[in-house]
Amino acid sequence: MVFHILTLFPEMMEAALSASITGRAMEKGLVQIDAVNIRDHTKSRHKKVDDYTYGGGAGMLMQAQPVYDAYLCVAQRLEKPARVVYMTPQGSTFTQKKAEELAAEEELILLCGHYEGIDERVLEEIVTDEISIGDYVLTGGELPAMVVIDTVSRLIPGVLGNGVSADTDSFMDGLLEYPQYSRPEEWRGKSVPDVLLSGDHAKVDRWRRYQSLMRTRDRRPDLYEQYLRDHPEAADWEEKWKKEFPENK
Ligand code: SAM
Repeated sequence: MVFHILTLFPEMMEAALSASITGRAMEKGLVQIDAVNIRDHTKSRHKKVDDYTYGGGAGMLMQAQPVYDAYLCVAQRLEKPARVVYMTPQGSTFTQKKAEELAAEEELILLCGHYEGIDERVLEEIVTDEISIGDYVLTGGELPAMVVIDTVSRLIPGVLGNGVSADTDSFMDGLLEYPQYSRPEEWRGKSVPDVLLSGDHAKVDRWRRYQSLMRTRDRRPDLYEQYLRDHPEAADWEEKWKKEFPENK
């Protein structure tokens, strides 16, 4: 998958994404990062990319021309049109579902704003999706774009490593993930739940499903209610599992 990023700070993207799992995914050719510097496309003699806003008000706005030309430079190289995602606090909140949808694309163009944002006219012209990473305002779209790239990349087959899948992660089936434990069996007087040492895989599965349900009910009642609406049978599982695992063991 190729992520084309239109940004004023390409070095930020390259530095952060070349580490760890995304870095290895790039080495394996599963993920490609094409960071395009919007400033390289300005027609201004002084390399300016921003200006004052019409109507007054503090702050500078990224101008339409350099953003549009940076977009054209990418779009003209593509075999088929790609979605253009503008990172903005005004977009719909990024979710695992949206990440799964984007992971099905072969190429994506991510547009990062800065300062007060970007001239509305170029947004109307090129943007197909608007994504926010939450109800707060950052200085630029680079960190939000990295959040999207990281989340989407780990859904691409092979990125998490052989045999590892994102299927049991939180949100993948609408619930939070169950608690997990590693060695040693006892640490500071706390033991690993007996069921995980039992070797009974079916029982381990049931315990994990139960833990997922309970954890979601306690921490994210909004998700839990939605899950019960989508899976009314889950209320019965809960009753059954409560008897099977009375002390969460
Ligand atoms: N004036 C804009 C507004 O109130 O909607 C905010 C501009 S913000 C300071 C500069 C840039 O940061 C935005 O153009 C956007 O690309 C990015 N940005 C800031 N917060 C974001 C968020 N929560 N999600 C995604 N992008 C964000």
